[in-house]
Amino acid sequence: MSDQTRFTLNETDLPKFWYNINADSPVPPTPVLHPGTLEPVTPDFLSVLFPMDLILQEISTERYIEIPEEVREIYKLYRPTPLLRARRLEKMLGTPAHIYYKNEGVSPAGSHKPNTAIPQAFYNKKAGTKALTTETGAGQWGSALSLACSFFGLDLEVYMVKVSYQQKPYRRIFMESFGAQVFASPTDRTNYGRSVLAENPNSPGSLGIAISEAVEVAATSNGAKKYSLGSVLNHVLMHQTVIGEEALKQMDLAGEYPDVVIGCVGGGSNFAGIAYPFLRENLKNGKRARLLAVEPTATPSLTKGVYTFDYGDTAKMAPIVKMHTLGHDFIPPSIHAGGLRYHGMAPSICALYDAGHIEAVAVKQIATFEAAIQFARAEGIIPAPESAHAIRAAIDEALDAKAKDEKRVILFNLSGNGNFDMTAYESYMSGKLEDYEYPAEAVKEAMKKLPKVEMPA
Ligand SMILES: *Cc1c(COP(=O)(O)O)cnc(C)c1O
Repeated sequence: MSDQTRFTLNETDLPKFWYNINADSPVPPTPVLHPGTLEPVTPDFLSVLFPMDLILQEISTERYIEIPEEVREIYKLYRPTPLLRARRLEKMLGTPAHIYYKNEGVSPAGSHKPNTAIPQAFYNKKAGTKALTTETGAGQWGSALSLACSFFGLDLEVYMVKVSYQQKPYRRIFMESFGAQVFASPTDRTNYGRSVLAENPNSPGSLGIAISEAVEVAATSNGAKKYSLGSVLNHVLMHQTVIGEEALKQMDLAGEYPDVVIGCVGGGSNFAGIAYPFLRENLKNGKRARLLAVEPTATPSLTKGVYTFDYGDTAKMAPIVKMHTLGHDFIPPSIHAGGLRYHGMAPSICALYDAGHIEAVAVKQIATFEAAIQFARAEGIIPAPESAHAIRAAIDEALDAKAKDEKRVILFNLSGNGNFDMTAYESYMSGKLEDYEYPAEAVKEAMKKLPKVEMPA
């Protein structure tokens, strides 16, 4: 075997299609419900928030959906992204395992998120939308959508969770450089924001609250503004499958096939992006890669949440979906992986996890940063704290292979770089980080506020 480290594709290898798991999933999709009536949503309800092309993708069961040429042109600024074999990390660990990672941190926003921001901006532009609204937690989604909106000439309002707004001024400036307007949520610009502030003027905000504000602005704009979500929805996960489609070709170049494919999960999009094309190979072509989703013990939706119907946002304006949830009024502990703080999880991931096609593990914060530093010192990339969860799990797999003296091929998604996350690293290195396990009692308590959905089991 050669000693090649980087496996790169040509521009001509850029995927022409996104892969839609709903064509092959052995578990039927669960209905999406209107937050007021608790009846299945109609395209009319969704069309207040989203352009029709994206609604059709959301409910599509076509296996492959063509990537528009205008989107591929922009993808070409940073795709195909490289796949690397982490040879120096393998050596450092003394493991017989082979560790590969797909580096989505090379995108202009530093994460995988432009993969969906670009098509979402494109379809909105095509439908005549003038402006988008969105929320952002840690700032990566807002950054990705800012640059996508600037490419397509759309205005953008970003509702940024207040603690992040205060902790991450550089993210705000990044978004403003691309012309976005950024507000610290809760704001006094919306009815919902004002109601939160009336109750708690010092509210640190949450992703759930920021989503509610962004949805309210779009829903009350008489069609002038649409809303854009960076994870959780089917079409978002589908846009991310360019990651896995490229990785399949690159593993082929490396002459290996992964035994396990790993990604961190917030709403589930980067994990699905790398894992779903491999799941297709499991389901249709007799492959047997394990698919492992990694979450923080502080926001353990899959491993500790209840699989049930819940609201997508705190103000109960967004649709209700069946998912593993910590409760829609979840206010996360202030862990340093802002992108993993959502209370729920993409419905398709939940259904596949429930049916045993996907595995999940929760990892602790300090061990996660230890893995991040180890990876940085071996491979030269400081990972996003979110991605470091996947690295923790990849290293644990490699150490397990070492203990059992077996060769194991491990592939993980490096969903982003950590260049904007120095505050988190500073906290870690100065010993200020603490481990936190979200208490099971808090989940139990939150379940009292679930929507009362009557559904056949
Ligand atoms: C947003 C983000 C995540 C979490 O979102 P998913 O939809 O679960 O992928 C993970 N990593 C990075 C770098 C992010 O920006």
